[in-house]
Amino acid sequence: MSDAAPTPAYSRVMLKISGEALMGDQGFGLHPPTVERVAKQVQGLHAMGVEVCMVIGGGNIFRGLSGSAQGMERTTADYMGMLATVMNALAMQSALEALKINTRVISAIPMDQVCEPYIRRRAVRHLEKKRVCIFAAGTGNPYFTTDTAATLRANEMKCEAIFKGTQVDGVYDSDPKTNPDAVRYDTVTYDEVLAKNLKVMDASAIALARDNKLPIIVFSLGAPDGLSGVLSGKGKFTKVTQ
Ligand code: UDP
Repeated sequence: MSDAAPTPAYSRVMLKISGEALMGDQGFGLHPPTVERVAKQVQGLHAMGVEVCMVIGGGNIFRGLSGSAQGMERTTADYMGMLATVMNALAMQSALEALKINTRVISAIPMDQVCEPYIRRRAVRHLEKKRVCIFAAGTGNPYFTTDTAATLRANEMKCEAIFKGTQVDGVYDSDPKTNPDAVRYDTVTYDEVLAKNLKVMDASAIALARDNKLPIIVFSLGAPDGLSGVLSGKGKFTKVTQ
């Protein structure tokens, strides 16, 4: 660790990114240079001594709801979505290992030849040994999302906060991409997010975070100081709290 490394405000965090954050400009699938850029951000956190959990969505490959909208049986489509998250997790593992960071992909659906099954105590031990734990296959159940999976695992791993990386630098009262007058919140309560239907995470994930007093920090994956800057309290982000 360099002497100049800022002191992190958290010692164990959950980083949630959507699958779409890995597809670059190509509109679908995995874009290796983009995966590498995200991996470098994680490397920054790791270098600060932060214990890192990750959940990556699957929307760049398959979403259950779109499958079922096209006539596929919903639970089957959801399992396909969960399998998509495993592919993304493996891509991230490969990018992190190229940066010499030890990782484990831990799946909610056992697939022993590919990755580890989820065993809570074992996952905690990996974190203590500073291995980045990438939790794959969501919660293992249909009708959920990876936002809920991230919140569930963050609670189980006793993370101090969820860092939700998005395209924008926080939570706005309306979509900043279409409304130039949209106002960004510095902090916002869980209840306000639910009541105003603000786009942070789905309602089940927000409720699970609220009931366990787990802060959610919404930041831009393109933040100038990167994720390590946000973790040190620099730059713009929104904190969802009580
Ligand atoms: N999924 C699921 N159960 C879970 C997590 C995910 O069934 O616990 C499925 C669901 O079909 C979802 C897909 O996996 O649409 C991909 O996850 P998500 O939509 O959360 O990905 P993101 O939007 O974050 O890329």
